[in-house]
Amino acid sequence: MERQPLFIGDKLNASKCNDCGNVRFPWMDYCYKCQSTNISEYLVGPKGKLMSYTISYSKPYVGKIKPPYAYAVARFPTDNGHIDVFGAIDSQEPFDDIKINGSVKLIPDKLLVKFKMGDD
Ligand SMILES: [Zn+2]
Repeated sequence: MERQPLFIGDKLNASKCNDCGNVRFPWMDYCYKCQSTNISEYLVGPKGKLMSYTISYSKPYVGKIKPPYAYAVARFPTDNGHIDVFGAIDSQEPFDDIKINGSVKLIPDKLLVKFKMGDD
């Protein structure tokens, strides 16, 4: 499988199964639900909702983020439901801007998925 970029423009480069409609991120060239290889590019975002987060005090294994930083799961709508995506929140101590159920917006990056709080 050829490695695909995380982002196309300001949207996530997800894949969609043309047989069962399953949307997956990161992009994958087959469907893990029905094993189809009939896959299309499907762009998700850039606006979503923060579902949960945690603060990490250890050095990340990828990207230029200094600890402490917030890891999060954000939910993005698709045309047949939603997908939940793991990433880092662009925020700093004391992390007062982070609100569960708050709006997030994607920040395009080559190495990792990043969100910022708010939808501006
Ligand atoms: Zn499928």
